[in-house]
Amino acid sequence: MNNKGLGKTRKVSIGEGSTPVVDNPPVPDAQSCAFSRSLTQQQLLLLDGAMGTQLFDRGLPPGDPPEMLNLVEPDIVRSVHNEYLSVGSDIILTNTFGGNRHRLALHALDDKVYEINDAAVRIAKQAALKFEALVAGSLGPLGALLVPLGPVSAEEALDAFKEQVDGLTAGTRNRDPNSSIDLLWVETMSSLDEAEIAVDACRQLSGLPVAVTMSFDTNRHTMMGVSPANAVKALLDVGASAVGVNCGNSLEDNEAAITQMREASPEAVLIVKSNAGIPEWQGAKLSYSATPALMADFTRRLQDLGVQLLGGCCGTTPEHIAAMGSAMGETA
Ligand SMILES: [Zn+2]
Repeated sequence: MNNKGLGKTRKVSIGEGSTPVVDNPPVPDAQSCAFSRSLTQQQLLLLDGAMGTQLFDRGLPPGDPPEMLNLVEPDIVRSVHNEYLSVGSDIILTNTFGGNRHRLALHALDDKVYEINDAAVRIAKQAALKFEALVAGSLGPLGALLVPLGPVSAEEALDAFKEQVDGLTAGTRNRDPNSSIDLLWVETMSSLDEAEIAVDACRQLSGLPVAVTMSFDTNRHTMMGVSPANAVKALLDVGASAVGVNCGNSLEDNEAAITQMREASPEAVLIVKSNAGIPEWQGAKLSYSATPALMADFTRRLQDLGVQLLGGCCGTTPEHIAAMGSAMGETA
């Protein structure tokens, strides 16, 4: 494993005791407020749609890590960003969903965590600058279960997320306008412990807002049995700025999950980034059932629940996001 670039802790003598200090302390500045400013001004923000399925459509072989393209085919990643931006996405997510050492190790890329995440930010930022859109640094699950269900200790999980956050926020810390992000985005989480550790990593290394979404794909709970109500309360408690639902099964299930979140937390800034319905195999290709028109109807209903951040997950395309953008401001 390579810890290059990790925000290292060192012992600094202060008075009688010694306190661990992070080399790169959080930088809360005007830029870190861009997210809340946009939210205040616009009330509703359009997110992007799927990255992975778009990259597979552009020739990424199934099984290959989408994050590798940040280093070897940045133009392909940028073309996906550009399509979402050109249909009105206010926030785009970096192509770093699996950009942590555990997932990258499956492809012998775990020594490239920093480079892959830093490159992804530059690609997204270059596209977003032309549209004055915001960039969110995406972090997905580690891909290995935490102790006692799996091999990864809480400390190892924190370390892995910090390593990824370090790459995602390098440009922000250096105040580089061409490689800075506006918020961090923890997504598709099933384990509340893992989600909280990811938020902790984000907050230890940056002063940026953190959005968190979980996938409620198992009887309207996450695979690990977390309910939407418990998720929203716990994640707000650990400092998330916005909380919600992504991926999942059907639009109906995601609507039920976000309704529960709204009931549990009337004031929360809520996010929905749903799959385009339930995927089905059609020959060798996965096909998603929700049309852009269905996603537009879904958007109107979610707005009525006060959801402010709306986009798509697996199977959604720029056409879906365009339809959702058109539906924004309309009621169901
Ligand atoms: Zn998804």
